[in-house]
Amino acid sequence: MNTVTRPRILVVGAGFAGVECVRRLERKLNTDEADVTLVTPFSYQLYLPLLPQVASGVLTPQSIAVSLRRSKKYRTRIIPGGAIGVDIKAKVCVIRTINDEIVNEPYDYIVLSPGSITRTFDIPGLTDHAFGMKTLAEAAYIRDHVITQLDLADASDDPAEKASRLQFVVVGGGYAGTETAACLQKLTHAAVKRYPRIDPGLIKWHLIDIAPKLMPELGDKLGKSAQEILTKRGIDISLGVSIAKAGPEEVTFTDGRVVPTRTLIWTAGVVASPLIATLGAETIRGRLAVTADMNLPGHDGVFALGDSGAVPDEAKGGDGAICPPTAQHAMRQGKVVADNVIATLRNQPMKPYVHKDLGLVVDLGGKDAVSKPLGIELRGLPAQVVARGYHWSALRTGVAKVRVATNWTLNALAGDDFVRTGFQARKPATLKDFEYTDSYLSPEQVRDRIEGDGTQEP
Ligand SMILES: Cc1cc2nc3c(=O)[nH]c(=O)nc-3n(C[C@H](O)[C@H](O)[C@H](O)COP(=O)(O)OP(=O)(O)OC[C@H]3O[C@@H](n4cnc5c(N)ncnc54)[C@H](O)[C@@H]3O)c2cc1C
Repeated sequence: MNTVTRPRILVVGAGFAGVECVRRLERKLNTDEADVTLVTPFSYQLYLPLLPQVASGVLTPQSIAVSLRRSKKYRTRIIPGGAIGVDIKAKVCVIRTINDEIVNEPYDYIVLSPGSITRTFDIPGLTDHAFGMKTLAEAAYIRDHVITQLDLADASDDPAEKASRLQFVVVGGGYAGTETAACLQKLTHAAVKRYPRIDPGLIKWHLIDIAPKLMPELGDKLGKSAQEILTKRGIDISLGVSIAKAGPEEVTFTDGRVVPTRTLIWTAGVVASPLIATLGAETIRGRLAVTADMNLPGHDGVFALGDSGAVPDEAKGGDGAICPPTAQHAMRQGKVVADNVIATLRNQPMKPYVHKDLGLVVDLGGKDAVSKPLGIELRGLPAQVVARGYHWSALRTGVAKVRVATNWTLNALAGDDFVRTGFQARKPATLKDFEYTDSYLSPEQVRDRIEGDGTQEP
């Protein structure tokens, strides 16, 4: 018999937004006021901005996987799995647990923070041959994959094979793609010294973007500085260019060039989690269209935020702009949404989310960086100090801070050993495999499943 009478708050996704929300609910709610449940496929919060440093071996994967259970006030029930559909009329969330059971989880209030997935386009071969940079497994996989290319190129006597293994293509000139190309180029540049049979001149990194500028949000001068730093390091930057076709051993650019490569890293933007489409509600570019208090109009208990909520950017004067998908916004929205859930529970007014962007930090590896904190343009070491200082202070637990600082120090003093772990060798490695994009139900399947009370399989 179900004896629970307390309101049920369900938070979906343990990223920047979801974890901040849960921690605040734990702090501010009395234990008998509501039950808090978190649905998450992983037992950690991933600090995504440092993923390129995991791919390049500067940090170990564990150091940016911040434990969900290390918190003084921790009392949330965690369901290990992913939400695959939400029926906002019936107030039920359908969850696939990590052992592949499908369960219906009823709620009174739902906070949707499942983040985003890699945005792809209808380009032949793209989804079969490109890797993303959105999950810990992807970052660890790419690291192993790049080292594998060096190992195999070193062993090969075939010049064509060597050439294709030693060229690497990153698509996306935003901060994720630029940092990825920059950090991985540092890796191959340092690693090649341990491969006497490889001519360093054969290693070539390409960074391409259809836009005319790298990281336009940095402004012209800093964007150009980043471009100069990367070009000096030998990275070939092509702007106004994308991919026409991708294959297992070559990629064709839209300007007609055919680049022999076995490594295509695709970071050309993100799109909200497919979970949002299962609601059948209004979206803006895939993100749930919510009000400034992050509530879905007409549905009092439904909230969305972070990369999956289209939250109006009130700091920009409410001219229809929505907050960009950044950790900076997601974390702060998490706090405000928790306050708004509590306000709704207590019949108090909600408050709108307002935050003025603090700027951007871009770590290009080693001493190279560009940053624009509070509009101040920085380059080189000062920019790197700000970039690392910002990320370090944003890590949620003291243990994570110590792990990251220790890794940075060790890497600066002793470098990398370029070891291939082989954990994910011979496993399927497409975007779909890493980001579970085909797990979701359609709105009709959600309804059928809930009306059938769990008897129908998706
Ligand atoms: C390489 C890279 C570098 C970046 N650098 C910066 C930076 O320097 N500064 C900055 O501000 N932003 C940066 N970002 C963007 C930032 O990481 C995101 O905007 C931020 O993570 C969004 O927070 P979120 O909580 O909405 O989503 P996330 O932090 O992605 O969290 C979503 C969580 O939901 C989980 N999830 C997904 N689907 C489901 C489901 N169906 N059910 C349950 N759980 C689910 C995921 O596993 C994840 O834990 C970067 C992103 C990348 C990829």
